[in-house]
Amino acid sequence: MTINASGWRPERPEAGSATAPTFTGNRALMLEEALIFEIGSTETTGVEVAAPATVQSRLGSLARNRPIGLPGLSEPEAVRHYTRLSRQNYAIDLGLFPLGSCTMKHNPRLNEKVARLPGFADIHPLAPVDTVQGALEVIHQLAHWLVTLTGMHSVAMSPKAGAHGELCGILAIRAALEARGEGHRKVILVPESAHGTNPATAAFAGYSVEDIPATSEGRVDLAALTARLGPDVAGVMITNPNTCGLFERDMRAISDAVHAAGGLVYCDGANFNAIVGRVRPGDLGIDAMHINLHKTFSTPHGGGGPGSGPVVFSPALAPYAPLPFVEKTGEGFHLVEEETAEEHHAGSFGRMVAFQGQMGMFTRALTYILSHGADGLRQVAEDAVLNANYILRSLDGVLDAPFGASGPCMHEALFSDSNLAEGFSTIDVAKGLIDEGYHPMTMYFPLVVHGAMLVEPTETESKAALDQFIGALRSVAERAKAGDVALKSAPHFAPRSRLDETLAARKPVLVWKDPEVALAAE
Ligand SMILES: *Cc1c(COP(=O)(O)O)cnc(C)c1O
Repeated sequence: MTINASGWRPERPEAGSATAPTFTGNRALMLEEALIFEIGSTETTGVEVAAPATVQSRLGSLARNRPIGLPGLSEPEAVRHYTRLSRQNYAIDLGLFPLGSCTMKHNPRLNEKVARLPGFADIHPLAPVDTVQGALEVIHQLAHWLVTLTGMHSVAMSPKAGAHGELCGILAIRAALEARGEGHRKVILVPESAHGTNPATAAFAGYSVEDIPATSEGRVDLAALTARLGPDVAGVMITNPNTCGLFERDMRAISDAVHAAGGLVYCDGANFNAIVGRVRPGDLGIDAMHINLHKTFSTPHGGGGPGSGPVVFSPALAPYAPLPFVEKTGEGFHLVEEETAEEHHAGSFGRMVAFQGQMGMFTRALTYILSHGADGLRQVAEDAVLNANYILRSLDGVLDAPFGASGPCMHEALFSDSNLAEGFSTIDVAKGLIDEGYHPMTMYFPLVVHGAMLVEPTETESKAALDQFIGALRSVAERAKAGDVALKSAPHFAPRSRLDETLAARKPVLVWKDPEVALAAE
């Protein structure tokens, strides 16, 4: 870090060195960007406002007693700062996003157009119900299609993410068990192949979590699971397709065994993308399952938008589902906001959120469903699975596929780091991919596989896009197998090279300190 007369500038390699041969540190259109505190000054401001008339402060001891220290920038400076930063993001609109389990698929522009219609975009959650009948109809129609596609009984639309949906499902299970006088069931069984949010959810809801091992094939060990069932088990949480990218073929047998032992079955349906239109979870004996609209139904996620995790329920759990929900009555659509004596929701466990859920995601997801139709949705699953298997098989003999012999995968291809050169691991492959212009795949997850690399292409990639990605991954993997030391310090072309990620996670620096002040204090 250096300070010179013209202000503070980020440290950068010497001009003339091979990595940054420019005065500015910019590399053509790859622009360097400092922190806003470093480019702005607390003495400048972007607006000129007349000094306020002095008034008697009523803040007392709460009055600020030193400058707030926020940097001032002009409007173009502020706009450029944030635009430059935004260009350092990777996005689904830039290229293939191979993050396994995340289903980073194209967000169709038609969805965006519909979501921006003023009748949907400009309404308020507290608007009188008779002025927002169209919006309620959208929620009702989407609920209808989610229930139809999953073969379940009813759906809670309000949860705002997959993990939030899991909590919703587990709270419904808890309410159902308590209603039966079986609140003493305190154990939730979670297979090793489950998503990490599953045990976290169960623990958060006050359950103790017990692991069920995976078979050498990467699926739930049915015998081990059945053996553990008993009067203390509230239920199971099973990710299907699981995080090894495999379909749990014993799902029906698992559900039957859990029900026979008095428990309930939660299915993590975040990976519904792989089976939509092909399998109805309701036929597999599931009691509750969340659906990530931001995965299967293409609504934006990550930096692009909020998630939405509706939860579908079996008849056994439906009476305990959260409020509110939309009901069709003779006169139109009605929002049920409170428990009433009516039998079908008198047992509701309460609310997950203040209002009705993510309206902007409902409009997008319904648009996606209606524009695909039944045959189109079925093809989504088929193409997602085909694309993942194309990647899996194209890397045969290059990367180790621990369950490659278990037959085709579902929507994601799982590799391990076991055949890389001594001293090389998954992180080196991931960093090499950054230099190739890709966001890395999901790394070191699932935990059942050493150095896991989980790749999910989704159905929205063309064969040409897949071939280019496969070429890049093969090239990086070959370098890691050959022990190419340059890979150990990759990425070389990113704005910043390899960071100390452990230090960043353990001791994040979240508050900017003025280096001049820090220097003066020394
Ligand atoms: C993405 C995902 C989740 C969590 O969903 P969020 O919307 O990120 O909370 C849970 N389980 C699986 C299998 C997932 O892929």
